[in-house]
Order: sequence, then structure tokens, then C-alpha cells
Amino acid sequence: DDRIARISSAIRVIPDFPKPGIMFQDITTLLLDPKAFKDTIDLFVERYKGKDISVVAGIEARGFIFGPPIALAIGAKFVPMRKPKKLPGEVISEEYSLEYGTDKMEMHVGAVQAGERALVIDDLIATGGTLCAAIRLLERVGVHVVECACVIELADLKGRERLGDKQLFVLVSSL
Ligand code: 5GP
Repeated sequence: DDRIARISSAIRVIPDFPKPGIMFQDITTLLLDPKAFKDTIDLFVERYKGKDISVVAGIEARGFIFGPPIALAIGAKFVPMRKPKKLPGEVISEEYSLEYGTDKMEMHVGAVQAGERALVIDDLIATGGTLCAAIRLLERVGVHVVECACVIELADLKGRERLGDKQLFVLVSSL
């Protein structure tokens, strides 16, 4: 698919951000290229349309960019998975580990119902810890996570393995 090459080249790599040694994959340049941005959304929509998915769960912050247009196109609702103390209503939360310390992810109680089928979306998978927390949060309330999807996978971090038997779909794999 020649759309992948265009998407891949629209992603900018910024060395030493946010700290020395990190090669940050910057998707804001992908958003500046309307064709590449549309192709990104289209590729996800082509994969998930007609799969009986009623929930697109987007992870803060960049899952909020890619999730909503996919949700609209496949006729699903969009559910934000947020950092602590951002959601105003009653929440359930899930802790997960970072390189140093832990973080928490929250979701509104009542946003999803047991038995619903969900797609989890983020811009990038590194170690997989973030996606795992989102999966646990949804599964705790009886939602079936059909698949996780990201624009970019940092393949050498093996986050895919951490997801176990949960399927992961990515557009661009990077080392
Ligand atoms: P993980 O939990 O898989 O180790 O980290 C993934 C999370 O960190 C995602 O929410 C992603 O947005 C963020 N992240 C880590 N590294 C990068 C990067 O190089 N570029 C971008 N855009 N996000 C990153």
C-alpha cells in the first residue's frame, strides 16, 4: 500500500526529546499533510468498518487526535481514556508502571456497557504499558477489546509481546 510510505515519511523524528537519548516520533507533521492524515484515518476505517465495534477508546493525548474521526466513520462512540483528575464525573482508574514510577488512567463510569466491542487507539506503542492499562480498564467493566491500533510501533521495545494474545494493528513499524 503506497499510502504507508507517505505516512511514514510525514512523521518527523526529533532526537533527544523529551530527554537525551530519546528519538521522539513526532506525529504533528503528519497532521500538517492533509493527504497523509486522511490516508491514516482511511486505513484504520477500512480495517474496522463493519466489525461491529461500538466503542473507540482513545488514549490521552494523541489518541484523541486519531480516535474521533475513526469513531465517526465506523459509527461508534468515542470514549476518552484520560490522565488522573481530568474527567469531571465518577471514574474508574487503572495504575500502570512507567520507566520511573507509576501513572494512572481513568475512564468515566457509564461510558461503556458490559458486552460492548471496543477498539483501543493511540498514536504509538513503545513498551505497551499504556495500551495494557487501557485494555484492563475496559475488560474490568466487561467490554470486549477487539484490537488495539497505533500509527507507530517501536518494534525493538517488544510492546506487542506484552499485549499477550490481544491483537495489535500498526501502520508504521520503526526501530
Ligand atoms: P508505552 O506505554 O507503550 O511504553 O508508551 C506509549 C505512550 O507513550 C503512548 O501514549 C505514546 O503517545 C507515548 N510515547 C512514547 N514515546 C513516544 C514517541 O516517540 N512519540 C510519540 N508521539 N509518543 C510517544
